[in-house]
Amino acid sequence: MKIQNKTAWLTRDLKRICCEVLRRNEKIEGKLGQYQKTNLFVVVVSAYNHLNAIALINGAWIKFIIPKDEVSKLALAQMFEHELQHLRGYRHESMLDWDLNNTGYQWAADNNKFPLRKQERRSKCLV
Ligand SMILES: [Zn+2]
Repeated sequence: MKIQNKTAWLTRDLKRICCEVLRRNEKIEGKLGQYQKTNLFVVVVSAYNHLNAIALINGAWIKFIIPKDEVSKLALAQMFEHELQHLRGYRHESMLDWDLNNTGYQWAADNNKFPLRKQERRSKCLV
């Protein structure tokens, strides 16, 4: 899995959450195809107060739009799994409805194991 991160969120934190979703998803759904696993490309961009994502059905490409300031890791995990299911060929008719109260993603709330931090900005010294 490659992540192209165009946000202020730390790439390794995003990746840790995505990898855990993939690990759990594979336990239920079986291994993701080798082609998809090797070539999985996740683009992450940010927008104000906006969480959304798209994926190619049967593809190996996911695009995430995540909020600039506050991100629900539970929603992020649920959305990533939703997109993984699209990669597996599922369409909305055969998927569960989006559910913000879904407790299956509670693990993502653990701030020790799955922190989501901002990258440190390099301060520009203009002196
Ligand atoms: Zn969808």
